[in-house]
Amino acid sequence: MNHIQKTLFILTFSLLVACAPTMHMPQISDEMAQGEALKQQKLALGKFLSQQERLQRIAHPILTKNIQFCENDIGPVFGFGAATQNDFGREWQQAAAEGFGLAEQPTVFYVGAGSAASGKLQKGDVLLAVDGKAIGKQGTNPIKNNKNSEITLTIDRHGKQKDVTLRGQKACDHPSFVELNETVNAYADGNRIVFTTGMMNFANDTELATVYGHELAHNVMGHIDSKMGNAALGALLGAVIAVGTGVDVTQEMSNIGAGAYSQSFEGEADYVGLYLTARGGYSIANASHFWRKMAEAHPASIHLEGGSHPSTAKRFLALEHTVKEINKKKAAGQPLVPNKAQ
Ligand SMILES: [Zn+2]
Repeated sequence: MNHIQKTLFILTFSLLVACAPTMHMPQISDEMAQGEALKQQKLALGKFLSQQERLQRIAHPILTKNIQFCENDIGPVFGFGAATQNDFGREWQQAAAEGFGLAEQPTVFYVGAGSAASGKLQKGDVLLAVDGKAIGKQGTNPIKNNKNSEITLTIDRHGKQKDVTLRGQKACDHPSFVELNETVNAYADGNRIVFTTGMMNFANDTELATVYGHELAHNVMGHIDSKMGNAALGALLGAVIAVGTGVDVTQEMSNIGAGAYSQSFEGEADYVGLYLTARGGYSIANASHFWRKMAEAHPASIHLEGGSHPSTAKRFLALEHTVKEINKKKAAGQPLVPNKAQ
């Protein structure tokens, strides 16, 4: 070994030493890690299902008290949720089965208090048939497209079959669900309303009700259909930008293509939405403060002059104004209906 070789050898050896851990660490087998991973999945899934339940609970009064604004989008709501193992990705199916008894047949995972299903269905009931028609496996939603206001469900409860008849409540028919996504966001697509897990964690119940009213307003005002043609590219941008800017970014970005309409649509959804929230029986006294909370968490959203996204400052002030307007109508015993432009 000449001098250079010796130097290289020492250098290589010392690099190896530097890269290898020198402490005696706990040895974790793959089997142990898998067991713990399953426990963590059950925790995450439990939280996800309880967030679905929370969103339904918040949406329910807003959807039932605003049917006069929903025109053709009215359907019966039965107030329960069911899921199958197959509603989740393959890697989640064991946790869904072991932790929540979800199988191939839809299984009830929540029953809304005061809903049509309350006192009739229980968590864990397995749905076998609707109006005598067997429910298919593989994640079929048994209630979807069923417009009957009364349905008879055949269920399996602890191994015993029984029939349960539910009379649905009239409500705005806008299916709402939580999406597994840590971005603080919520959006409407003209029919559905989606809240991210990030939003569910960020907002308290009253704030969620305010955001829900805003999204429902987009749907009932027909904002989405009217610019459908330009929405695709915007949605793609929204997915990237969503991280920094907060609420409704997918919606906002879709508006880029729609040009001048964007700011006024957002403003209109804030305005009409607060009426929908108030009519749902929620307190709107602190509704505007949601935008201060959003500004604090996402400072980039404060000043967005010239962009398509209305600033949190403007939204705060406009909402504060709307709160006063609604409170005045309440005090005067007037109907809570948004004012039409003159
Ligand atoms: Zn919006």
